[in-house]
Amino acid sequence: MGFVSGLKCRECGREYSTEPIYVCEFCFGPLEAVYDYSKIRKAVSRKKIENRDENLWRYRELLPIDGEPQVGLYSGFTPLVKADNLARELGVKELYIKDDTVAHPTLSFKDRVVAVALTKAKEFGFDTVACASTGNLAHSVSAHGAKAGFERFIFIPATLEASKIVASLVFEPNLIAVDGNYDDVNRLCSEIANKYRWAFVNINIRPFYAEGSKTIGFEIAEQLGWRAPDNVVVPCASGSLLTKVHKAFKELKEVGILKSADTRIFAAQADGCNPIVTAIKNDTDVIRPMKPDTVAKSLAIGNPADGFYAYRVVKDSGGFGEEVTDDEIIEGMKTLARTEGIFAETAGGVTVAVTRKLIEKGYIDSNELTVICVTGNGMKTQEALQGRMSEPIYIKPNLQAFEEALKKK
Ligand SMILES: *Cc1c(COP(=O)(O)O)cnc(C)c1O
Ligand SMILES: [Zn+2]
Repeated sequence: MGFVSGLKCRECGREYSTEPIYVCEFCFGPLEAVYDYSKIRKAVSRKKIENRDENLWRYRELLPIDGEPQVGLYSGFTPLVKADNLARELGVKELYIKDDTVAHPTLSFKDRVVAVALTKAKEFGFDTVACASTGNLAHSVSAHGAKAGFERFIFIPATLEASKIVASLVFEPNLIAVDGNYDDVNRLCSEIANKYRWAFVNINIRPFYAEGSKTIGFEIAEQLGWRAPDNVVVPCASGSLLTKVHKAFKELKEVGILKSADTRIFAAQADGCNPIVTAIKNDTDVIRPMKPDTVAKSLAIGNPADGFYAYRVVKDSGGFGEEVTDDEIIEGMKTLARTEGIFAETAGGVTVAVTRKLIEKGYIDSNELTVICVTGNGMKTQEALQGRMSEPIYIKPNLQAFEEALKKK
């Protein structure tokens, strides 16, 4: 048995039973899973967690499932890399990269949320899963869904990077490329979700899906020796991941695993799609939707579903937000690769470049411990680097040619 007692509206507090629903019938507020923390407090301990397999299900008491984990048994528990070279470059004392570029099976943090969503979809008895995606979610639903034996419908904007389309198609889902941007795709999917009995991971089972993002926070705390960091920088698309990283530290404290959880949460966006950071900077909780135009396509959500809640978490935690240009994003990707040997996708470039800005402007204290969430692999967005790097040195296959090249270097 699990520890979720039901769902609750985040606005009016009305309670619902555990079903594939996501919005309050009375006020249209989003629904969230409700846990029995006093029961969890008795059921978990650091030791118990540490003795489990190294995957995201080691925190299963704080995830919204009732039975055994069924999907993603190899997902999660990615490295927390001590980034001393990058720390030196950015001028801070203690810096870590939470490295989801090596997430199993599809190299982005979406493997976490989909593992939880599809386990829940099995519990609900769905045979078809679906999603609206900016790319990474498509990969993960396609892959996890293949192994779990689901029929899959994947909806993407037709303009996605070619390499991102291949990385979904290889798993042979039904891939629907929609003539429109992500917000158009999402609107269409909401209509489809009303009509067909499918589990849309980020629509009708979103309350369960979103909880999977907490596992990044749980792992960071455990990998730091059971402590919450001073600062975390999180890339934002819908804003969900940011709110859940914060929730993770608070929950670990609530169930007695952490002594304190006062982490400041920082939002990272591209300036071509920055509705959440704009709200933070203007100090208003009204999120103004915009039309995205950025190389960071996996973050290109112009009308972020959790924007308001992300704004609140940043403000309440004492954090801030920054945005960066496409050039700064590419520079961020190259800096991370050059200093730490990690090839992140454009979203990682956003987060690294934003962290640099936050440090330079004094929003992040250089004597504190900071974690940067790097959420996807650079192999997925190679187009973004085309023409932005040095060329290989071409030579004939003989020693003399090599040595001539060596002299020119
Ligand atoms: C989806 C995604 C995010 C952010 O997700 P939200 O929870 O929607 O804010 C961050 N990074 C990458 C690489 C993603 O694919
Ligand atoms: Zn409500």
